[in-house]
Amino acid sequence: MSDTASALEGVNFVAGRWTASRGGETYERRNPWRPSEVVGEFPSSGAEDVDAAVAAAEAAHPAWSSRPAAQRGAILARAADAIDARVEEIAQDMTREMGKPLREARLEAARAAMILRFFAGEGWRPWGQVYEQSASGAMVYTRRRSLGVVGLITPWNFPAAIPAWKTAPALAYGNTVVLKLAQDAPLTGLHLARALAEADLPEGVLNVVIGRGSAVGEPLIADPRVRAVSFTGSVPVGHGVRDRAASLGKRTQLELGGHNPMIVAADAKLDAAVQAAYAGAFWSAGQKCTATRRIYVEEPVYDEFRERLLARIEHGKVGDPADPDTEVGPLVNQSQFEEVLAGIDRGREEGGTVLTGGERADADAYLVAPTVFENVGDDAYLSCEEVFGPVTSLYRFGTLEEAIERANAVRFGLSAAVFTTNLATATRCVDELQAGILHVNSQTAGADVHVPFGGTKASGYGPHEQGRAAIEFYTEEVTVYQDA
Ligand code: NAP
Ligand code: MG
Repeated sequence: MSDTASALEGVNFVAGRWTASRGGETYERRNPWRPSEVVGEFPSSGAEDVDAAVAAAEAAHPAWSSRPAAQRGAILARAADAIDARVEEIAQDMTREMGKPLREARLEAARAAMILRFFAGEGWRPWGQVYEQSASGAMVYTRRRSLGVVGLITPWNFPAAIPAWKTAPALAYGNTVVLKLAQDAPLTGLHLARALAEADLPEGVLNVVIGRGSAVGEPLIADPRVRAVSFTGSVPVGHGVRDRAASLGKRTQLELGGHNPMIVAADAKLDAAVQAAYAGAFWSAGQKCTATRRIYVEEPVYDEFRERLLARIEHGKVGDPADPDTEVGPLVNQSQFEEVLAGIDRGREEGGTVLTGGERADADAYLVAPTVFENVGDDAYLSCEEVFGPVTSLYRFGTLEEAIERANAVRFGLSAAVFTTNLATATRCVDELQAGILHVNSQTAGADVHVPFGGTKASGYGPHEQGRAAIEFYTEEVTVYQDA
């Protein structure tokens, strides 16, 4: 165990202090690659801890929100430096606690710094618009104000990026925060808190509470001092969060699952499409909301695409996520592992053919081999429901119209990709694919920090995150009529 892991073990971050949970209860987090290895013990917090965190956040809000935004940004920029200096350590901890291959964990840790840096600059960008009053010509303008205390609930699959992309805008726009990290990946998120603490964030501005969703998430949503809740995670939990928060009159934002299609036209650059399919479906073991779940290939190139994808899988490195060459590592925990294997069984029962993979790939680790199906019916489980693992299906299509219709035939609408060298094909897909994030000739996963991110249909609710779009959720707009 590294020194850092032990330094951040067993603690929440509340009112500027690293503290055990009030009840003193803890849980063990184990390495999904070697489940006998304990990564650390973390607090199993409850309502009392949430209460203390919200109280600290509420007390910190007046001073924090009245600081000049550029000064708040300076703290975020210093925290970005602290993360940059520690990318390797954060990546190693991430890999150990949730199994993301080191090569991707490094990129994600560095991205957390980039996110902080982008939002550090928000203090220098416009916060409103100026108009003339229609009757008098006197000034009328809009300005943004912080909300107060916001509650952030994050999943384990991007344990550095998602806490950063909620926390950074919340703080930049003057809110104070209570962040509930996922139990499956607390250590990575604690690194974010540590970086902000080192950057002299005033006490109480960010509070981190670790524990079960029901024990920490629910009291956080219910607390009347919490003005807004931003949630990323699964559809059923997210809808419960939204319904509860909405019934209490709170602003809510959800980023949920996806069932992301990729269309490969006959005129596509096939090698690029194959590489994108591999990366989109299998990197991070398919545990991305934007992972490629369905691949529609135009009839004339279907067989060729299938052969090249299978060859790519044969060359891909699967196994120990701490090996920097590994592309596909384990699933995060035993229940996700069992769910993915059950999804594969169901795919077979419903008539799908497994072309490769389809089974456990290591006696200890929660490792599933990259799995490709074909002959899966359009209304089969695998074609409609998110199986959160390295599993994707191939489908043949005849016309573009048909491909788009089938790509859109799910309740989700997060990301979609098209591979083509024909501008008209690309344009039609951009016009008609039902997704919040569209990729022309790139994989379905991936998100730049300075542009909006979010899904349509069942994949999202409320304003998008990231980039300047984040200001919508984390501020309220007021209109000021100013007469002399
Ligand atoms: P999850 O089970 O919904 O959990 C997400 C968070 O909610 C965790 O912190 C969880 O806590 C907490 N939670 C659980 N029950 C709760 C409750 N009753 N009240 C309040 N909070 C509660 O999702 P996950 O398994 O961590 O993540 C995988 C899912 O996230 C996938 O569906 C994926 O597609 C989606 N995802 C979406 C995006 C996006 O931006 N669209 C990005 C990444 C992931 P504990 O787990 O600690 O108990
Ligand atoms: Mg879960």
